[in-house]
Amino acid sequence: MSTVEANVEVAGNPVPEGNDLEITEARNARVGDITVRRMLPLRLRRSVGAWCFIDHYGPMDVDGVAGMNVPPHPHIGLQTVTWLLSGNVLHRDSLGSEQLIRPGQLNLMTSGRGIAHAEESPAEHDPTLHGVQLWVALPDASRHVDPAFEHHGELPATGLGGFVITVLVGELAGAASPATTFSPIVGAQLSATGRPASCPLPLRPDYEHVLFVVTGQASANGVQLAPGHLLYSPAGRHELALAAPSGSTLILLGGEPLREQLLMWWNFVARTPAEIGAAAAAWRAGDFGSVGGYRGDPLPAPPLDVARLKRPR
Ligand code: MN
Repeated sequence: MSTVEANVEVAGNPVPEGNDLEITEARNARVGDITVRRMLPLRLRRSVGAWCFIDHYGPMDVDGVAGMNVPPHPHIGLQTVTWLLSGNVLHRDSLGSEQLIRPGQLNLMTSGRGIAHAEESPAEHDPTLHGVQLWVALPDASRHVDPAFEHHGELPATGLGGFVITVLVGELAGAASPATTFSPIVGAQLSATGRPASCPLPLRPDYEHVLFVVTGQASANGVQLAPGHLLYSPAGRHELALAAPSGSTLILLGGEPLREQLLMWWNFVARTPAEIGAAAAAWRAGDFGSVGGYRGDPLPAPPLDVARLKRPR
């Protein structure tokens, strides 16, 4: 995967003429010791539905090393969605939650008005780590709700044209996730397990979508996709012609276009610079509560110049 400067969008594979699909290429970012493929936000696209952040990391060898170690840090205004393809990660938060997550399981943390959490590879961890970290912006009416954490050990799955479709949030192809949502969204994993898969994937035309490959490769309406490519499909589409060789896995995210201007800084999703400033001050003052059980210091907030925080266009 090539490295792309922050917030610069680069055309990936060519999109056939007359097609309203778009491709952008991930840029590399660092999260602790881990390099991730950051696919959202983009300079020209801050969110897709309410999805406002997409990191894909691994697969990486973490045998005999610390692996993931993200010290306690705060969030406001969002839900974090943790999904693994391989390995295991331990979540702890300021509500007292402590939860190990494995592939096929969902950790969903609703920050609401404020929560702090830490994520790390457990002391005895699997040798490979591979996953995605996603954020969902809470709509204005819900962004001050109480913080909450939920773990779903099993999720509904269905089959379509050789794909095993596991629904993380929302509903797809007749399967519905029990995960709590605050706006109309969908998130699903599509795996071609054991044989090549192909299908017309039904989409809600009132949703916009993104699709990306986490393992193997795929094509969507004739556009070739590899890890690091993000395919965007605007609202109005009823289906995508998907095909993937055996062993490939894709992630589909979508939702009703969010008609709200988000202001994102560090781990905060807000609407105004004043809210960001208040959240940063609250974190420095210790007002988010402590994350029990984590050995080490919390993450300091980066320097913030509120006057330079621009309102989104
Ligand atoms: Mn976090």
